[in-house]
Order: sequence, then C-alpha cells, then structure tokens
Amino acid sequence: MAFLVPERTLNEYGLVIREKLITASSGVRYYSNRKLNTAGNKPEYITIHNTPDINEAAGTNDAEQYARATYNNNMGDVVVHYYIDETDCWHILADDTVGWHAADGVNGPGNTKSVAVEIIMDGSGSSSDKLAEERGAKLAAILLHRYGLGIDRLKTHRDWYPKKYCPAYILPHWSAFVNRVKAYLAEIEAQEKKAAAAAASAAPGKHYRVQVGYYGVKANAEAMVKKLKSAGFDAIIKEETA
Ligand SMILES: [Zn+2]
Repeated sequence: MAFLVPERTLNEYGLVIREKLITASSGVRYYSNRKLNTAGNKPEYITIHNTPDINEAAGTNDAEQYARATYNNNMGDVVVHYYIDETDCWHILADDTVGWHAADGVNGPGNTKSVAVEIIMDGSGSSSDKLAEERGAKLAAILLHRYGLGIDRLKTHRDWYPKKYCPAYILPHWSAFVNRVKAYLAEIEAQEKKAAAAAASAAPGKHYRVQVGYYGVKANAEAMVKKLKSAGFDAIIKEETA
C-alpha cells in the first residue's frame, strides 16, 4: 500500500505533526467511535507507551509504518492516538475519541479518559533512540498544555495495568522523562506568556476605540454595560466631566 498521506500537517512549538484521523468509514477494525468518558470529552490523562523500532522501508519511517499498519488492520485491535519516532509524528485518532491501548477494558480510565502516545524506540541509548524519547516528551508536554493538564496527569501504560511493563524503555528512568516533560511545559508556557504580552503591548501607530454610548445619567450607562455583558462583550464606564 502506498504511504499514508496526511490530511493536514501541523507545526506545534516546532514539532511537526502529520494528521490523518480514523473515521467510522476508514475500515479500521477496532474503532470505538466513542467519545472519551470525561466532561466535554476532554482528555484527562496522557498515557505514554513504548513500541519497538521496526525495519524501515525505503522512503518512509517507523511512525508512518505503524500508523499505516493501523489503517491496514495489521495492529490487532490496538488503536492509539499518536505514533512518534526520531523523525516523524502521526496523529491518527482524534483526541476526544476512545482508543484501545491501556489494557484496562472498555470502561477503564486508561482507555476511556486518556490520549495514547506511542513512542517508537529500541532502548539502545543511541542518539536516534534518545531523540525519539525527547520528541515524545515534547509531544506529551504539548498535549498536557493543550488540555490544561498538570504533570500529575502524565501516566504510563503500567499505571493502568500493572502487569504490563510499558513504556519498557523509559520506565527505568521514568522520573528523568517526567522532568523533560516538565521542562517542555515550562518552555511552552513561557512562549505563550511572551506572545500574550507582545499582543497586549499595543503596536505603535493608529488605534481605534469603539464606543457604544454617551449618557448624562449614570444609571443609563450602567444599563448599557449590563446589556453588553449579557451579550458576551466586555465593557467599562469611563467618567468624564463635560
Ligand atoms: Zn503500552
């Protein structure tokens, strides 16, 4: 089969994510089509997995091959949200949708409340192995930030199913991995703060203020503010002496 073609490619904080989301008509055997069992279907946890490197066909990479294998029903029932390796990252299941990865069943919080990130590694400690893990840490931080989740919501497959030693290559130094995710979270938050501050400090040049009323009676001004606020606009009263 031809390589997967992404429907869109995103660049989030420097990480390129190729996206081709499974739908009911994609033909993927295990596709629950169930929304996460959470408020607003918003992910409550990010679950980290490891899966081994595979032989790469010419012209592609592990992440694309795993993603494609899911589409071709060659992954058993396993469906995860993201595959990431040292060069590529594929998003194949919508974040608000239940996957099949945590071994805690149809109602388990791992499957029904978390987004699965499968980091493809070989555990050799080689530079490409370390890079895959580093990119996985960054992706985890991006997802935690996206859903306003703290570092305590970063979970391992083993947290949901203690008999499963996964992520096998990262568990031996899990706390170091958590620290990398924390560092990326701090970086992302600093970047956001900077962008917000830049937006707030008005650019030089002309500026335009919109005024909706001018009243001689304070109660009338207050009534207009109330009306605006109930319509979803922010409003202030500025007192002037004419
Ligand atoms: Zn796992």
